Amino acid sequence: MPKGKTPSLLNGNAGKPNKVVAGRKRECTRCHCAIVKGEPCFEVPHPGFAQGRETYCCDCFAKVLDQTTKDLDTHFAALEEARAGI
Ligand SMILES: [Zn+2]
Repeated sequence: MPKGKTPSLLNGNAGKPNKVVAGRKRECTRCHCAIVKGEPCFEVPHPGFAQGRETYCCDCFAKVLDQTTKDLDTHFAALEEARAGI
């Protein structure tokens, strides 16, 4: 068995998505809707970059999760093929 924690594709150098409560008015990076103070939103690291985070409203984060699930499905499918020797 390999030692240490199992790595996750969603937990790179930039860290993982984080649910935060807006401490001041913010704007969703994706749809540019206003996120008012006290509203929950998500801080998501830029994929592939060590620095910088996007702020997403809940709706946008849901879409990002949907897309992530689809992307994961393609990896699961590729894994299936690899195991089946295709
Ligand atoms: Zn949004």
